[in-house]
Order: sequence, then C-alpha cells, then structure tokens
Amino acid sequence: MTYAQVGVIGAGTMGAGIAFVCARQGHNVLLLDMNEAVLKKAQSYVASILAKDVSKGKITERQKEEIYERISPISDMQKLYGCDMVIEAVSERLELKKSIFSSLANICREDTLLLTNTSSISITEIAGGIKSPERIIGFHFFNPAPVMPLIEVIRGKKSSDENVEKAYQFAENLGKVPVLVNDTPGFIVNRVARPYYNEALRITGDQVASIEQIDTIMKKAGGFKMGPFELQDMIGIDINFATTESVYTNFFHEGRFKPSRIQQRMVQAGSLGRKSGEGFYEYSE
Ligand code: NAD
Repeated sequence: MTYAQVGVIGAGTMGAGIAFVCARQGHNVLLLDMNEAVLKKAQSYVASILAKDVSKGKITERQKEEIYERISPISDMQKLYGCDMVIEAVSERLELKKSIFSSLANICREDTLLLTNTSSISITEIAGGIKSPERIIGFHFFNPAPVMPLIEVIRGKKSSDENVEKAYQFAENLGKVPVLVNDTPGFIVNRVARPYYNEALRITGDQVASIEQIDTIMKKAGGFKMGPFELQDMIGIDINFATTESVYTNFFHEGRFKPSRIQQRMVQAGSLGRKSGEGFYEYSE
C-alpha cells in the first residue's frame, strides 16, 4: 500500500493514539479537534511515546522527528477534503457522529473511506440517511491504540464488500490484527466485557468488597492485566457508561446490560477517570 493521507477526528484518548499509529506506519495525518487544548495534549502524548521509543533504541532521533511531523493538528473539517480515509473518534454520541459523517460525505472525495471508532453504536444507524453509506465502516481500536493489536472491522448493513475489504487491509497495513464482525450492539469485545464492569460495580455497590479489593483479586487471581475499576479509569468513565447505555438500549433493555447508577453519578460529577485527574482512583499530572 502506498502511504495515505489520513484524517482523524477527535484528538482525545483514542484519536491521539490512532494518529500516532497511522504516522508510525508512514501515513500523513490531519488530526482534528474542536478543542485547542486537547490538540496540544495529543501532541505532547505523541512526543512522549516517541521519546520513550528513542530511549529504548526502537527508533532513531531522525525517525522521531519524521513521525512527529507527519501529524498536523487542525480545527477546520474542510481541510479533510483530500484524505484517502478518515477515522472518526469523537465522543460516543449517535447524533454527533451522524452529523460528522453527514459533513464528511460532502467534504471528502467519493472514494474516501469513512471509518468510525465507535465502541458500541450501530454502524448501520450512523450511516442511516447519509449519502454513500457503502463507505462507512466500523474500525474499532482498543485502548491504548499504539499497543493493543486488535481492530474490530464492522460491516454495517449498507457497507460494500469492496470497502470492508479496503478497511480490513488498512488495519493490516497498520500492523494490527483485524477481525471482521457484523453490526451487533457492542460488537464482540464490548458485549463480552459488559458483565466485567457491571458485576464489579454491583459488588462494590452492595458493599461486598472495595474497588481496590476487586481490582486486586481480578489481577492476582483472575490473571487480568487491569482490574475493572482501573480499566474504567483508563477508558474514561463517560465513554464506558455511554457504551453500556448503548448496548442496553440496543438489546431492548435486557436486564443483564443495565447501566450502573454509580457510573452515572461519576459522569454527572465530571469524575471521568485518568483524563479528568480523578475517577475510581486519583491521578496526579
Ligand atoms: P475522549 O472524550 O477522550 O475524546 C473525544 C474527543 O472528541 C474530545 O477531544 C472532543 O473535543 C472531540 N470532539 C467532540 N466533538 C467534536 C467535533 N464536533 N469535532 C471535533 N472533535 C470533537 O473520547 P475517547 O475515549 O477518545 O473516545 C472516542 C471514541 O472512541 C468514542 O466513540 C469511544 O466510544 C471510542 N473508543 C474509546 C475507547 C476508550 O478506551 N476510551 C476504546 C475504543 C473506542
């Protein structure tokens, strides 16, 4: 594959990592966010990973500069007109994502692949009513994007075979392991993962065990790399809550997916995990 011009929309937890993954593979990236401070934070994040890679001898100083310079922060969506693919990674809200794809369908070339990193929202619904829905595909990275190998490639009802294949190949080109899945609430990973969070929240809500105890047990005895509360803080409690809400709604309110009031209150209070400095645990800069 020749190098592509890639647009990434949303420079938060996922967008920053996705931009880095694309730049590391040689692609030029336009990284769009409406929040200037988030764009600056994303650039510092990329710089910090590159500095670590240099100190470990994985890349040279020159490669560090080249990768860093491939990512251009922008705030105007019109600049994405020349992109070969655009990866959307904004907050997990259906209407926001629909409005972004509606604009992209007009801004981008007809052959631009339009990918969404949604954790749970139906690809079919995002693409519903939007011009050329055949090029809208789910492209679900995992956190942290530079490290986690899996990408769920999700086929919406109107995604074309040709575009699904292109998305699959792009995931391979990024050095990831793509798995093709059909459009179903939470896809595979987030559907399987719901009980991990929900049951842990119920246990602590019932005052059976503390969050520290649950995390420790799941790591030491369960063999998980992170406990359910550490993981929620890393993911973002707002994102995790929105994902559970979406899976719950789309399974017609099946009780096993019911969201937790503990999470809801934390979102209302702005305690969003690592990104806000405080969630189930406290974080210093
Ligand atoms: P985040 O809150 O860290 O970042 C979202 C970013 O979107 C913010 O910086 C915000 O300023 C920006 N944004 C919102 N509206 C915008 C607009 N109109 N134009 C440009 N930028 C806009 O969220 P995140 O954790 O990076 O999640 C992003 C997406 O990735 C969500 O759909 C989420 O479900 C999915 N996802 C998240 C994780 C995770 O672990 N956090 C993992 C996989 C997928």
